[in-house]
Amino acid sequence: MLNIYPVRAFKDNYIWVIHNQHYAAIVDPGSATPVLAYLQQQKLQPIAILNTHHHNDHTGGNVTLLQSYTMPVYGPANENIPELTHGLKESDVVHLSELSLDLAVLDIPGHTAGHIAYYGGKSLFCGDTLFACGCGRIFEGTAQQMYASLQKLASLPDETLVYCTHEYTLSNIRFASAIDASNPALAQRVIEVEEQRKHDIPTLPSILAIEKATNPFLRCNQSAIIHAANQHSRKILSDPVSVFTEIRKWKDTF
Ligand SMILES: [Zn+2]
Repeated sequence: MLNIYPVRAFKDNYIWVIHNQHYAAIVDPGSATPVLAYLQQQKLQPIAILNTHHHNDHTGGNVTLLQSYTMPVYGPANENIPELTHGLKESDVVHLSELSLDLAVLDIPGHTAGHIAYYGGKSLFCGDTLFACGCGRIFEGTAQQMYASLQKLASLPDETLVYCTHEYTLSNIRFASAIDASNPALAQRVIEVEEQRKHDIPTLPSILAIEKATNPFLRCNQSAIIHAANQHSRKILSDPVSVFTEIRKWKDTF
């Protein structure tokens, strides 16, 4: 049985530690200090670092962790990752034998040019691409790429648990509610997320089926989202990529 624990870092990052009480893999250690504290407290032996993309709040702890432990560093082949030992791309598989876990690699460019996700054990580690009720900003790729990446993630099984890297859910849900006000699944999610955040409980992992029902960036073919995008842009946007592009820009200024 694997545990997947959110180590908190910075203002709103989660560093996911996948472990079986003995061995641990660390996803996107932006900072080493809270990870080292958790490993020591739980008496865990780390066996791998898994980076999704090059941003410092996802990789900034790599060097310091390697001063205490020897382990491979997995990450996107096409990005500059500190201490990278295994560059990965679409259809590669990471075998973590100590955890009896295989993770398939998905290329999901958009937030950064080489961003990857790890999928295995019904869990998805998708960095800053798919967020709970939102998606990452498009820094290096195109809106078309980001849309395709989100569609690729949305095609995974409905029961997939989504482990993204930031606690952005409440602000994401406010935007979603503004453009998809008559969605009953979203109204229910607002109640649940507000309650979780009131008690400082992480809103993650999310479930992919709930994302498909409530996340506007996965719902660009739905009439409510198309209508909102048209009203905001004062244009007739019919294809999902144009709708996605409009609401992604809108969210930046919301
Ligand atoms: Zn990022």
